Amino acid sequence: MKLIKGKKIFVGTLVILILGFLIPENLKMPVEGASKSDYNTNSFWFYPWGQSGTHKGVDVFARKGTTINASTPGVVLYAGNIRVGGNVAIVLGPKWRLHYYAHMDEVKTASFSLVGSETILGTVGTSGNAKGKPPHLHYSILTLIPYVWRIDSDEQGWKKMFYLNPIKYFEMRN
Ligand SMILES: [Zn+2]
Repeated sequence: MKLIKGKKIFVGTLVILILGFLIPENLKMPVEGASKSDYNTNSFWFYPWGQSGTHKGVDVFARKGTTINASTPGVVLYAGNIRVGGNVAIVLGPKWRLHYYAHMDEVKTASFSLVGSETILGTVGTSGNAKGKPPHLHYSILTLIPYVWRIDSDEQGWKKMFYLNPIKYFEMRN
């Protein structure tokens, strides 16, 4: 009996895991109207980078107040204010990936909201430790399932099993 229950939980978990991979990711540039000239193509894993050591995402520069859309469908796990990121949103999207949007001027979503790709999350700003810098969206993608084969000898290279390079996904769409 116990064995059957364990098996059911295992199969159930597996089904949920697989479902996460079946939802199309179809990642879009989150900053409205932004193109390749609005970010540095070497931005990802830039070193040295302040307190974080390496830059684990991309900074997309735009005028303050520019709309930020969700880059993928998903569920907002957190929307609010934190110290370094300022006004942020964290969205769990397809493939068990977290999408982190930081330094927003205004947050226009709420925790536990369902978002479609292109749902407005907020606007570009300088909140958190971007204060005094040109307005930009800091955008990171984190996989909850570690891609251990991505680990390399770069500074903090082991963290590359979690942090994916958003620029690669932007470029796939061009
Ligand atoms: Zn950044």
